[in-house]
Amino acid sequence: MRKPVIAGNWKMYKTLAEAKEFALQLKEQQVDGTKVDAVICAPPLFLDQLVEATKGSFVSIGAQTMHEEKEGAYTGEVSGHQLQDLGVEYVVLGHSERRQYFNETDESVNKKAKAAFENNLTPIICVGETLEQREQNETETIVSNQVMAAIEGLTEEQLIQSIIAYEPIWAIGTGKTATADDANDVCQAIRETILDGYGEEVANSVRIQYGGSVKPENIVELLSKEHIDGALVGGASLQVDSFVKLLEAGA
Ligand code: 13P
Repeated sequence: MRKPVIAGNWKMYKTLAEAKEFALQLKEQQVDGTKVDAVICAPPLFLDQLVEATKGSFVSIGAQTMHEEKEGAYTGEVSGHQLQDLGVEYVVLGHSERRQYFNETDESVNKKAKAAFENNLTPIICVGETLEQREQNETETIVSNQVMAAIEGLTEEQLIQSIIAYEPIWAIGTGKTATADDANDVCQAIRETILDGYGEEVANSVRIQYGGSVKPENIVELLSKEHIDGALVGGASLQVDSFVKLLEAGA
């Protein structure tokens, strides 16, 4: 049995005061952390204080991207080494917004995934197709290629710990969700690609999230599907009450 992982991606939202208030309220909630992994992926400015605020609770903290080098002259960047130093545990890699606006590529995602493991960070590797690619029936090929490129060279042990997030680009922030069956089909295709490349133990262990307009109204059906092991959530992770409903659905 794979443990569901529900991750909030706050993107570039919230002030420090709002982030701290959220963390204080969230950690008081009755969520069974043995049944669901709860992660908040926040802007880098808040990570230190969020780690402090959630210490000893069921909540883990993640970053939304990182640089693959340990340190260096990379103005504006944050390294995996620095994230680990703060107590951050997860990092989102290759989000479609990073691919679209900040030149993240399959190749850089692969380098970052390796660097994440060097720093004891669990990568949440994002893949997904555009609407045009879906309409041309290219979804499974595109997504499988993204996954294989991102995980190339990782050890089996690392793969087992990795999280893949399937986020169809046309469903992000649009209110359009893939149907649970469509999302499950793509998650299954991802698992089969991993099965072909790395065998049964790895394929059965990797957790695959769905992301794209996930909310309390649709999460139960999504999580009921065999190959969907959690969700990566934007908008509905910004309020404590809706995020808690998502966690409860996973627990
Ligand atoms: P929404 O849940 O707002 O559609 O965002 C999805 C997403 O991009 C999570 O990474």
